[in-house]
Amino acid sequence: MIRSDIIIVGGGPSGSACAWQLRKSGLDVVILEKKTFPRAKVCAGWITPKVLDLLGITPEEYPYLLMQFNRIHFYLFGIHVPIRTRQYAVRRYEFDEWMVSRSQVPVFTHTVKNIVKANGGYVIDNKYRCKYLVGAGGTHCPVFKIFFSTSNQRTGKALITAIEKEYRCDYLDKECHLWFFDNGLPGYAWYLPKGNNWLNIGIGGKFIKLKSSGKTILDHWHKFTKKLEQRSLIKNIPENPRGHQYYLHQKKQTTRQDNAFIIGDAVGMATIDMGEGIHAAVVSGLMAAKAIAGKKGYNPDSLSKFSLPGIFRAGKKIEPRNP
Ligand SMILES: Cc1cc2nc3c(=O)[nH]c(=O)nc-3n(C[C@H](O)[C@H](O)[C@H](O)COP(=O)(O)OP(=O)(O)OC[C@H]3O[C@@H](n4cnc5c(N)ncnc54)[C@H](O)[C@@H]3O)c2cc1C
Repeated sequence: MIRSDIIIVGGGPSGSACAWQLRKSGLDVVILEKKTFPRAKVCAGWITPKVLDLLGITPEEYPYLLMQFNRIHFYLFGIHVPIRTRQYAVRRYEFDEWMVSRSQVPVFTHTVKNIVKANGGYVIDNKYRCKYLVGAGGTHCPVFKIFFSTSNQRTGKALITAIEKEYRCDYLDKECHLWFFDNGLPGYAWYLPKGNNWLNIGIGGKFIKLKSSGKTILDHWHKFTKKLEQRSLIKNIPENPRGHQYYLHQKKQTTRQDNAFIIGDAVGMATIDMGEGIHAAVVSGLMAAKAIAGKKGYNPDSLSKFSLPGIFRAGKKIEPRNP
């Protein structure tokens, strides 16, 4: 039996942020992660300046690709609205590995299946034992399924379905473009260059609305990629996009039971306007760590449910071009 005071299930941004904070507090913690890093993660990889602040680094200190945008091109029902802002894009393949390795926490490659409460702690797959358990396994987190699925009724209205493709190509524009509600899509599509010829394109929307419209996310993908090709933003349409589902912020979720916590997508906390989940994953991970260290309570419900005010605020901090 491997023992640790704290076990975190999942090494995505929520789990590794939590691990990093716990380690800084000098606590005994390990991560159980089903994949070996570096691993691909279906995600556009857009992050706000706040994420870097929370992780205590400047953009210059991030050791991998970090694309900086000083403007985002929004298209609302086809109307072009460029917004001045400061935002970033990372490759999750690199970002997640960097986060987990800087946490300096042992990572065991293990797919968690079964967890039972025993003697005031938790026993995982008859192999690992801990006092505190943190569920950071994303949408299908086993900690959520075993301890929280009865108290938290995830509503289908908050379910997002999204597909993306990240690939190397000669992309033709270095700026970020977002198309909202094109062709009846209940969500938005993105074109997000990452630097060094990496490009992420994708599309996401509310699952229930898509279903009732009779169109699939793939139908929208085909139209969207054709449009990118016609606008000469890409030269060829990439094959085999990858999909994933996750939940937007829902009110009053139970996020702690005894010494078990859930964080990030295991709760479902992406913002309801932009589907931004990395920030909430990092904040909830840090919050859970502080709660375990006895410094603060754990209340991720207090997080903002919107991204747009932050995007607009970030624009005010940029120096005008011709002062
Ligand atoms: C197409 C798409 C685009 C997106 N774009 C953005 C974006 O641009 N910006 C943004 O902020 N958010 C975006 N999101 C949301 C964002 O990806 C998530 O909110 C974020 O990854 C949540 O982090 P997490 O650590 O909670 O979970 P995850 O990143 O899902 O990490 C969970 C980890 O747990 C591991 N795991 C799962 N089950 C087990 C198990 N049984 N045992 C052990 N380990 C397990 C997984 O392998 C994984 O490493 C996007 C989502 C999608 C689907």
